[in-house]
Amino acid sequence: MRIDLRSDTVTQPTPAMRTAMARARVGDDVFGEDPTVRELEELGAAMIGKEAALFVASGTMGNQVAVMTHASRGDEVIVEAEAHIYYYEVGALAVLAGVQARPVVGERGYIPPERISAAIRPESINFPRTALLCLENTHNRAGGAVITPRQMRAMAEVAHARGIPVHLDGARIFNAAVALGVTAAELAAPADSVMFCLSKGLCAPVGSLLAGSREFIARARKCRKMLGGGMRQAGILAAAGIVALREMVERLAEDHAKARRLAEGLAAIRGIAIDPAGVETNIVLFSVAPLGVGSEDFLARLAARGVLGTSFGEDTVRFVTHHDVDASQIDLALRAVAEVVRELGKKR
Ligand SMILES: *Cc1c(COP(=O)(O)O)cnc(C)c1O
Repeated sequence: MRIDLRSDTVTQPTPAMRTAMARARVGDDVFGEDPTVRELEELGAAMIGKEAALFVASGTMGNQVAVMTHASRGDEVIVEAEAHIYYYEVGALAVLAGVQARPVVGERGYIPPERISAAIRPESINFPRTALLCLENTHNRAGGAVITPRQMRAMAEVAHARGIPVHLDGARIFNAAVALGVTAAELAAPADSVMFCLSKGLCAPVGSLLAGSREFIARARKCRKMLGGGMRQAGILAAAGIVALREMVERLAEDHAKARRLAEGLAAIRGIAIDPAGVETNIVLFSVAPLGVGSEDFLARLAARGVLGTSFGEDTVRFVTHHDVDASQIDLALRAVAEVVRELGKKR
């Protein structure tokens, strides 16, 4: 038995994706001649409500291309203190974009506008220029927390009022949209650029899209090329992305239902600390602190029973639900957690 709850990125491409990939019409995309990539970019742009989009190899590449396109070397970029773009991208803001990050602590991913306002640099000989505000929805380290359209607008407004553009890391924007019952375009509307992943809950094997104005995407295309992201017959990959956008968005609600089932099951196990109300999408965070173990130790014991998760801090564990785990496997995972808890109880 192996139940992989490490991430929604472990999802396999669906049979429909493999068929589409095999049949895809392709060309050299660096020459702009891959019809399948162009179709994906147009579909993605329409679904996210922007003029144009760019197919990139990963979410990280999309985010970093966005920062490089918006900002110049030595600029400052405001980020939420645990935002993926800052926390999990290997220091690329500094190395690739050459910018300085200004982390601002948010509340479940939402940064109160007055904190954004306070972080924007006034003109001074001593200060870098604030070039960009980065937002994230859903917010990964906040446990898949959803940010509402009203909150998105409130955050973007303070930046725009000072002439600062906004980039949205929408790796899981469709999870947010499905959870809120709004369109992804409405959530992305306050942002000047947005990145979203095809390779997570939407099950495509590879790739993300970066979207924005036609002019922005033209400049971003050059940054992508600079990073080695100019791919040739990439329509093979884009074909799966088209299926992801056409067929896999609405079903994200099933992943959210599985996450709720998981959270409620965990809450019923004595020794696991979790607030099931905090589980809004497909990410479940819980603490094993009451058991007196660290998350790594807990996860190793769980892995011995075939259930995989990731460590999200000293005593915090993350589970992510997705297409390739069903409700019965959620129940088996819960049983494995209960067994580990019992085993740790005996040891003490
Ligand atoms: C996964 C993720 C990314 C990066 O995507 P990769 O394709 O893994 O590079 C960016 N932002 C957030 C919020 C993510 O969860």
